[in-house]
Formats: sequence, structure tokens, C-alpha cells
Amino acid sequence: MAELEKIKKEKQRKRYADAPVFTDKASYRPDDVNETGLCFVGHEISEDGKAMNQFLHYDQLYTIRHGWNSPFFKGLLDGKIMGTRCPICKDTWVPVRTHCWNLDCDLAKTEWVEMPLTAKVHTWTVAGWSGRSSLKRLPIVLVYAVIGESKVAIANELHQIEPWNVEFNMPLKVVFRPKKERKGIITDFHFEPAEGWEPGPMTEEKERIQNLIEPVYKWVSTLK
Ligand SMILES: [Zn+2]
Repeated sequence: MAELEKIKKEKQRKRYADAPVFTDKASYRPDDVNETGLCFVGHEISEDGKAMNQFLHYDQLYTIRHGWNSPFFKGLLDGKIMGTRCPICKDTWVPVRTHCWNLDCDLAKTEWVEMPLTAKVHTWTVAGWSGRSSLKRLPIVLVYAVIGESKVAIANELHQIEPWNVEFNMPLKVVFRPKKERKGIITDFHFEPAEGWEPGPMTEEKERIQNLIEPVYKWVSTLK
């Protein structure tokens, strides 16, 4: 019996990493958080810096355990975009993958790499409606953008552009909020057109989009 227990324990040791000890804790829960909105209210980072949990208030308190993906969210706090790369085929991903997707790589565990703060538009849309907290910011340009040499695209807002001027493959830069406002969440950054990029001339399609968006601007201007 004792032998069986020993084997079981040994197995467990191999299967699970030690539980992280969370020592670096931040709380920014506002006094006026209400029961109908979505609000990130804090996070904790483990002693060894490897694991990060986040606390989200959305009707009730949720804990988001980032586990192996923690370096991406910790990177946001530092104004960095962290991606992962396969050590064998060198494919790179943001949003990150913990293991390679190529069958030949036999689920190789990926390694962390700091990505450049440059991207290009893969695809995009203009939001004319949103949750209550964003209504006054409408219309919002949402892009799926490829950061650096990533094999996948990440979604975020594109600022500093007339919504009808967005173009496929246009070059972008990643822009972070000031350090003290960052929470280790995706809205810590947004995209803006790269320096020197100028929109192409007005086209029929751009005019069509402009006509669709005009009523949104009009409606938003009536919001208190
Ligand atoms: Zn690979």
C-alpha cells in the first residue's frame, strides 16, 4: 500500500508544477463599481514572476488564471508585446500558443520572444454599436492585426484614423497607455497608423462606409 502511495505521489509530482506563491498584488477596485458593468479590479503576480492571475468584476468577482500564458499579460504591464515561438520550426504567435501547431514539431513547447511594436491590418470592421461603457466612443474601428511575423492576428482598436480610411495591410504601430494606467489587460494598448502612412484617395467604397457612419456620429453627439 505504501508503495502504491509512493508511486501515486511520484506521478503527481511529474504531472503538476508546484503551486505558485502570489506576492506581488495590485488592487484598483473603484469605490463606485456597479453590478452591471465589467471592471478589472486587480491582479497578482507570483514570487517567481511566472504566473499572473487577474480579478474581473462582472456582476460577480471572477479570477482569470493565465497560467503558462502569464508572460503575455505581464508584458503588457511593462509596455511589451510578448509572443511565443516554436524552437523547431520558428513559427511565432500573438495571441500566444503554448505548443506548436505543426504536426512535425510533435507539440513542442514554445519559447517566449519580445515582439516588435509594429503590425499590419489583416482585416477590420467599424462598430456602430457597443456595450454601454463604450457608446460615447462610437464609431470604433476594430482590426485584426498581425504583429511582427506572427502567424495569427490579434484583435484590438485602431485609433487616429477616419473609419472609412482603413486599408487592408496598412502598417500600424502598437501604442500603450501610460504605465500607471496599465492593468495587464488587452486594452492596455491599441493600434495607430504607422508614422508617415497616408490614406489613399477617396473611393466609392470609402464613401459608402462614410455614409453608413455619419448617422452614428450624429447619434453619439446627442448622448449626455
Ligand atoms: Zn514548430
